Amino acid sequence: MSSDPDARRDTPLALKLKAQIARDGPMELSRFICACLWDRVHGYYATKAVIGRAGDFVTAPEISQIFGELLGLWSAVVWQSMGAPAAVKLVEFGPGRGTLMTDALRAIAKVPGMPAAMTVVMVEQSAGLRRQQQNALANQQIPITWVEASRPSDAPMILLGNEFIDVFGPDQSVKTPMGWRWRAVALDEGGQFQFAPSLTTRLRPELDQRWPDAPVGSICEQLRTNDLAAEFKALAAGQPFAALFVDYGHLHSDLGETLQAVRQHAYEHPLCSPGEADLTMQVDFEDLAREMAAAGFTVDGPITQAEFLGRLGIIERASKLMAANPQRATEIEAGVARLMAPNGMGTRFKAIGIRSADVPKLPGF
Ligand code: SAH
Repeated sequence: MSSDPDARRDTPLALKLKAQIARDGPMELSRFICACLWDRVHGYYATKAVIGRAGDFVTAPEISQIFGELLGLWSAVVWQSMGAPAAVKLVEFGPGRGTLMTDALRAIAKVPGMPAAMTVVMVEQSAGLRRQQQNALANQQIPITWVEASRPSDAPMILLGNEFIDVFGPDQSVKTPMGWRWRAVALDEGGQFQFAPSLTTRLRPELDQRWPDAPVGSICEQLRTNDLAAEFKALAAGQPFAALFVDYGHLHSDLGETLQAVRQHAYEHPLCSPGEADLTMQVDFEDLAREMAAAGFTVDGPITQAEFLGRLGIIERASKLMAANPQRATEIEAGVARLMAPNGMGTRFKAIGIRSADVPKLPGF
């Protein structure tokens, strides 16, 4: 056995993808990654208990209940700023284990009028996670529905998503001597996966305009979020609309590579373990804001998670919770410190608000 961290492992999905590439030639990276995450039999999200201490990564709502509570209160302030409509949809995209919504609903329960006005929609593609969410929310009084894809709303909509944007088909292009090409996955002489420019697909002259001085070998990343703005427009369907996304990413667009693979809490090369590692890319918030503005939305932020949670009163809320639960004080404090860490989640994660023109500036921004 090799201890090379880049060593390719012959997972069941690797064997399937190798056979496909051997037959059809190099596969575009976005397709390769989509198979790694969503293949019905071997895909990462389709098969694994991925989130939490036993899984591959721990997310903000799993670190502290205060995260979901603050997002619940944020939703309540947004609802009030919409004029406290008698019916409102609270939608969560990619709700993981259902922890964020459980904590949010606990906070919302204390807001006069809101529980009665509200229906919850959980948008989740993974059947396994949907079951976990249904268990977590089994005792809620508020009507909750689960869907695989969201639908246009007949009521004002408030949308939440933590670590969701980065699930959109990560894609990369590479500058070759002939120009920019999509990046693909090919097989080397030993039959192992390697990156290669896709020679069959079209060139990308728009990237020459955007990055005229990029040297050969440069990588340009994009999340395929361009459908998201159109999807929000369809969802909002002319109703008041406000969305909050918190994700790992950077404030300004740049060249370079952030695609990463995490398996059992350790990083590895993205081509090592198809189907068994989580593959993510940092969100380019500048790009996302541009797309949303082009679709007619108003964008608040992006700002760092620490700024956002600080303005929503995380410290005050933590003090209250610690006073009420002294035996849990250390754990509560450690959780908040982790969410706010200046060299960790506090700055690496950003919050962005997206709203229709009839909704006032969103709280926290
Ligand atoms: N928000 C959760 C989980 C983040 S992981 C948390 O913070 O803990 C990403 C989540 O998005 C998972 O629940 C995954 O199954 C879901 N997901 C990924 N792609 C999706 C898609 N296209 N539509 C709906 N849900 C998706």
